[in-house]
Amino acid sequence: MALISIVIPVLNEQESLQDISQLIFEELNPFKIKFEIIFIDDGSTDNSLLILKKLQSERENIKVISFTRNFGHQSAISAGIDHANGDAIITMDADFQDPPSLIPKMVKEWEQGAKVVFTNRKIRKDRFLKKLSASIYYWLLYNFSDIRIKGNIADYRLIDKEIVKYLKGTKERSGYLRGVISWLGYPYVVLDYERPKRKHGKTKYSLLKMTRLAMDGILNFSLVPVRLGFVLGLLLIPLGLCFMGYIIYDTLINDEYYPLYKWISVANLILMGFLFVLIWIVAEYIGKIYDRERDKPQYVIKEKFNIE
Ligand code: UDP
Ligand code: MG
Repeated sequence: MALISIVIPVLNEQESLQDISQLIFEELNPFKIKFEIIFIDDGSTDNSLLILKKLQSERENIKVISFTRNFGHQSAISAGIDHANGDAIITMDADFQDPPSLIPKMVKEWEQGAKVVFTNRKIRKDRFLKKLSASIYYWLLYNFSDIRIKGNIADYRLIDKEIVKYLKGTKERSGYLRGVISWLGYPYVVLDYERPKRKHGKTKYSLLKMTRLAMDGILNFSLVPVRLGFVLGLLLIPLGLCFMGYIIYDTLINDEYYPLYKWISVANLILMGFLFVLIWIVAEYIGKIYDRERDKPQYVIKEKFNIE
């Protein structure tokens, strides 16, 4: 029988831990799903670790990893995935915003062959600003990066253990997991759900952490910011050349007088264009070095026929 690992990162969630594990047991029991829960205490300063230890001593299939300090949500998930024994791994939050009732549905999709099951937050019961920034961000990501997933997709998902080996092989896995997983290109299924409000406490994602995560998403999977240099260069050079052409024409034909500084500023415009193009080329090289450095797999095989 297949084993499902449920990975839950925890930062100061003392009010939720008991209830969320209880709820997972209740939701999964009727389906006879064999599972383990791996909690990662990401440097909590409340009683989370104590409670986790107690839960662990009561149930054999609860496992706990504790970090020396706060390393961040994505790193906590990575640690959980690294230590999971399951044939499929589900990552979810501890705050009841990822309803465990979805787990049997995810497992079912997986049993039917899906290697990745993402979940899409249909309605976010979050503050207006958070909703707005999220929609803009996910739109940007979809249209301007290599991440080909549409919608409001975060870290509540299932992955097959086959994918784990690729995650372990790349050095950037702790940065922006959902991006790496989508980038690997496995066919995926998306389940919609309504995202409820956080049950206890407040979000552990400060604006700074959020911005960092967002930047990781864009920077790791998109060369668009770099290519802005190219676009600017291509705009400035022809513009400068037009001005130059015009003042040459005006000087020669109309006998108009242009002081030296005007010639220089028009020349500067052209030079600036070339500078942007140069910056763009340098940035492309840096992008290549970066790609190599983080050991992105060169390809991902889906199936093999008559080949071991
Ligand atoms: N979390 C973590 N480390 C962090 C921030 C958050 O382990 O540095 C955990 C947190 O306890 C929760 C999950 O990651 O279980 C998602 O965080 P949160 O609910 O605060 O994010 P939001 O849902 O507001 O985006
Ligand atoms: Mg949350």
